[in-house]
Amino acid sequence: MTKNTHFDYIIIGNGLAGLQLALKMNSDTFFSDKRIGLIDASKKNENDKTWSFWEKGPSKWDNICYKSWQKASVITSRNKINLQLSPYAYKTIKSLDFYNHAKQALDKNDNFNFIIEHVNIVDDNTLVSITTNKNKYTANHVFDSRIPKTFKKESLNNISIIQHFKGWVIKTDANSFDEKTITMMDYRLKDGSQTSFTYVLPYSETEALVEFTYFTSAVVNEAVYDDYLKNYIKTFLKIERYTILETEKGQIPMTSFTFEKFNTKNVTKIGTGGGWVKASTGYSFKNTEKKITRIIKNIKAHKLPSQNLFKTRFKFYDKVFLKVLKDENEKGEWIFEQFYNKNSIQTMFRFLDEESTIFEELKIMGSLFSWSFIKAFFKTL
Ligand SMILES: Cc1cc2nc3c(=O)[nH]c(=O)nc-3n(C[C@H](O)[C@H](O)[C@H](O)COP(=O)(O)OP(=O)(O)OC[C@H]3O[C@@H](n4cnc5c(N)ncnc54)[C@H](O)[C@@H]3O)c2cc1C
Repeated sequence: MTKNTHFDYIIIGNGLAGLQLALKMNSDTFFSDKRIGLIDASKKNENDKTWSFWEKGPSKWDNICYKSWQKASVITSRNKINLQLSPYAYKTIKSLDFYNHAKQALDKNDNFNFIIEHVNIVDDNTLVSITTNKNKYTANHVFDSRIPKTFKKESLNNISIIQHFKGWVIKTDANSFDEKTITMMDYRLKDGSQTSFTYVLPYSETEALVEFTYFTSAVVNEAVYDDYLKNYIKTFLKIERYTILETEKGQIPMTSFTFEKFNTKNVTKIGTGGGWVKASTGYSFKNTEKKITRIIKNIKAHKLPSQNLFKTRFKFYDKVFLKVLKDENEKGEWIFEQFYNKNSIQTMFRFLDEESTIFEELKIMGSLFSWSFIKAFFKTL
């Protein structure tokens, strides 16, 4: 094995988690004498998703932000809840803009080496060795964004549902959207009694991403999403003529599966494969940023990189919430109506960001006080 195949760190996966981690290392002088290999099977030159998230004030992502909003609404069959997000803003980034931004920054630093290969085996010894479809590499530490192989099988023993969706970016001739307000959830159109809703991100008065989303145990055929999208656009957006510019499809695990049990001294699981997707929401963009800040702090303090990445009490809340959605899926509309009607959106964002106080958490629990949650609470204990 030549010297060039050994790295201080190897990051498997140039997706959200891998590239955010590499960018953070690139901006920290602690890593300026470290060799870092970035292995991904894909060149990441396609816009494979849009990431949305909320945050306070300006941030380092603003230069690649596609659009941001200060207002949102949650619509149920009984209610329309208007939300003023300030001091938060809801922001969207197109993944291709993020990949290009990261590649441009990392390409300037010779310490970072992009390797376009498929990882087959990670062997965790004193040095970690990685076998790809073409080569073998070693590293002192590996950050691995692959989803553990046992996840699918073991998820049956965990509380797991799937956030699955299909969306269209549509373009209209006439002005059709309030470009200042996103629709976080619209429950007026549902698939039976299942937790299913439409999400609308208006990019302009004539262009928007319209997505039909489920939080359920099983996925549906593609034609089902199409029917609901067509129906929503016609009935609720009252649009007759439009062009579909782009399509986005996806599945995000919402699960109590303990991805972190795969972390070792030499291998840290990251991203979805590390359990960084918030189980109760499916969001992970900002979570990823926080986990990476913690990992870098740990490395610099000579601690295990994965130390203290999770907060136990929030994991418990997520589990109870998942249990209710899994056992009584028809309760979804009621739950979200209570969440957003009885708590300020700022408190909700703090709660979902795992930054709320115990007092705020008790108030949120109070707003959901019901037999369903009491049962789920005791079953989860
Ligand atoms: C369609 C979609 C939309 C989403 N929207 C949002 C959103 O709006 N907001 C939000 O917060 N979250 C969102 N998520 C959830 C989550 O943020 C994303 O899934 C995010 O991309 C997860 O980051 P990651 O790094 O774990 O995975 P990815 O970004 O998928 O990156 C993983 C990388 O690993 C590579 N890889 C995998 N296996 C191998 C292998 N064996 N060898 C080499 N390379 C490998 C893949 O090619 C890929 O590039 C969305 C998810 C999906 C699927």
